[in-house]
Amino acid sequence: MKFIADAMLGRLAKWLRFLGIDVLYYSDIEDRQIIRIAKEQGRTILTRDTGFLRRKGLKDCIFIKSDNVFEQLSELRERIGLDKCIQDRRCPICNGVFFIVSAKEEIREFVPDHVYRNHNSFMKCSDCCKVYWEGTHHQRIREKMSDIIGRNN
Ligand SMILES: [Zn+2]
Repeated sequence: MKFIADAMLGRLAKWLRFLGIDVLYYSDIEDRQIIRIAKEQGRTILTRDTGFLRRKGLKDCIFIKSDNVFEQLSELRERIGLDKCIQDRRCPICNGVFFIVSAKEEIREFVPDHVYRNHNSFMKCSDCCKVYWEGTHHQRIREKMSDIIGRNN
């Protein structure tokens, strides 16, 4: 299951990507463009805008009630069971798929010195080429996330 989020769901989009869910998000996009992309690419629309729900012929659309990103994740979990959508981890910035950096030397110039010294596993975004590493806060975020999405299992 793939998604496209409306302009009001930027934070949710980032969290979903971080979890490994394919979510397109553009901060300035018109409704009709969202609908076009959703139809072309078979994506479900995530929206805070009830206007979408009133549009005829729009089946794949999920209305998100809450303003809070964690409640939004819970809503989605209840509606569709998020764990089934998780695939490759994705770049929170651009939705590109991560790949593991096999030789640490490759990314030396892209990360701060202390990060290079203290970490051994790095990932790189296949689209925007941003380099990521597993910090302790990432670990905590992921624990919180699996808590949220896995509660039914
Ligand atoms: Zn990226």
